[in-house]
Amino acid sequence: MTSIEPSAPVLVTGGSGYVASWIVRYLLEDGRTVRATVRNPDKASGLEHLHALAQEHPGRLTLHKADLLEEGSYTEAMQGCELVIHTASPFLIGKVNDPYEDLVRPALEGTKNVLDSVEATASVKRVVLTSSVVAIYGDAVEMRGKDAFTEADWNTTSSLRHQPYSYSKTVAEQEAWKRAEAQDRWDLVTIHPGLVLGPALTNVSVSGSMATMKMFTDYSQATGTARLEFGIVDVRDVARAHIAAGFTPEAHGRYLTNSESLSMLKISKTLRKAFGYRPSFPLIEAPKAAVILIAPLAGQTREFMRKNAGYPLRFDNSRTVSELGVQFRPARESVVEHFQQMIDDGLVRG
Ligand code: NAP
Repeated sequence: MTSIEPSAPVLVTGGSGYVASWIVRYLLEDGRTVRATVRNPDKASGLEHLHALAQEHPGRLTLHKADLLEEGSYTEAMQGCELVIHTASPFLIGKVNDPYEDLVRPALEGTKNVLDSVEATASVKRVVLTSSVVAIYGDAVEMRGKDAFTEADWNTTSSLRHQPYSYSKTVAEQEAWKRAEAQDRWDLVTIHPGLVLGPALTNVSVSGSMATMKMFTDYSQATGTARLEFGIVDVRDVARAHIAAGFTPEAHGRYLTNSESLSMLKISKTLRKAFGYRPSFPLIEAPKAAVILIAPLAGQTREFMRKNAGYPLRFDNSRTVSELGVQFRPARESVVEHFQQMIDDGLVRG
């Protein structure tokens, strides 16, 4: 049982990101005081939405410079905080040049650095870490013989070579649990979203969420899509889950934060129903053999397609619903609102 004093400031790392921006907004709307860390608080673009929120909620939002790779850079902003919500971590999909430097090092060293600051800050009582469904499972083929993945499952198959983003999230979460279990002043709660979709407060995020939806605009699937499923969850529900995890005294352990699974073809059908026929929305699923063959041309590996195409993906979200009180929006709603936002932002024609 951990009670967080509602008037104490809450630290949100990576505060300008796609997910974190909604966490910051909802915390402010709930009346909390927020310290958001960003790599460069002076940058000319990408922080406009946070500056606007700071104006709307005078004196309750401040931005602080911190970098995952810089030891001690979170300590000052953390002073007096009882709750730390650690979301910062690179989410890059497709081909990554240097998986260790681009993904694993910032995720793992960053978690160590943030937790070093937690250990140096006596006021902190709880850390909520943004993990992922990819720390729960490695490849969809692991669904064989299961009804659904649960919080008891761990990704044991990803590596620097195969699924490095999934590996980065897994080793970062393992480090966090190791550190949490070695002491008893602060506790850890982890949030495990599927693919996060829905409207963004920022239009400069390079999150894999944006990269995935871009595949429905860039004609890369015009002749057919792979038979791949994703667990999907709305960004607003993910934000609410983080806040509930922070402020529910009994919250503990891991929370799968996923609405429902949709295949790429179902996402395409949803988009067609809402926005009409577009040649960039695939009409068919390509045969698995073809998808494996051309995987490298699509920035994927053949091993990824072999172990993921054609397998269903199911996640049991019942703990999040019953213990955190999150009511998940239907995934199709998030898909449509995400695409509408891309139109509104001029990223795709209306
Ligand atoms: P995002 O918009 O790209 O946000 C990532 C954040 O990480 C950015 O705010 C970025 O900060 C920060 N960051 C990256 N490298 C950093 C570094 N070296 N030092 C300090 N900050 C750094 O992506 P997102 O989708 O919101 O992801 C947020 C979290 O959710 C991540 O932990 C991700 O793994 C997790 N997640 C996302 C999804 C999804 O589908 N989007 C699903 C499951 C889990 P700057 O803006 O200052 O550069």
